[in-house]
Amino acid sequence: MTDHEASQTARRVVVAEDESLIRLDIVEILRDNGFDVVGEAGDGETAVALAKELRPDLVVMDVKMPQLDGISAAEQLSKDSIAPVVLLTAFSQKELVERATEAGALAYVVKPFTQNDLLPAIEIALARHAQLVALEAEVADLTERFETRKLVDRAKGLLTQKMGLSEPEAFRWIQKASMDRRLTMHEVAEAVVKQLSAKK
Ligand SMILES: [Mg+2]
Repeated sequence: MTDHEASQTARRVVVAEDESLIRLDIVEILRDNGFDVVGEAGDGETAVALAKELRPDLVVMDVKMPQLDGISAAEQLSKDSIAPVVLLTAFSQKELVERATEAGALAYVVKPFTQNDLLPAIEIALARHAQLVALEAEVADLTERFETRKLVDRAKGLLTQKMGLSEPEAFRWIQKASMDRRLTMHEVAEAVVKQLSAKK
């Protein structure tokens, strides 16, 4: 692999940790394992700003940080679908983990940790994020198909009522108009509804 290819495929990470020695450690682990650390922050506010600006593939973030804590920062990042977050916590408190999950953190690591703890957590977060993105696309597609079906049904109804077509004829008309004009069925149905629903 050339350097250019490596830089294209390396996953981009923002690291936020207020203790600089631990941050150094994390950055080193990530770089040693082929990640591209594109930004570093020592507080939650800067972490959110950096993530919004740099759009990394992942944010690795400490929970206890000044300005804005890691959980609130994770909340902001997940709310705006900026990047998946791996949280670093000092203790594995049940309540904390629940809050972190609610905040949209996709994985967490308990301090002190080694790269054998951090790397699997990162892979889990990335995999869960990929699944979420795929699911969102699927739901969007389903919604779109449902909307199209509703609209086509409405257009068919109008074509039968106002133009005297039978239902199969109305459907074929919409289909043919879509193919002839290189429009989607959705677009044709929308035009039909717009024209015919105003017509007495
Ligand atoms: Mg801290």
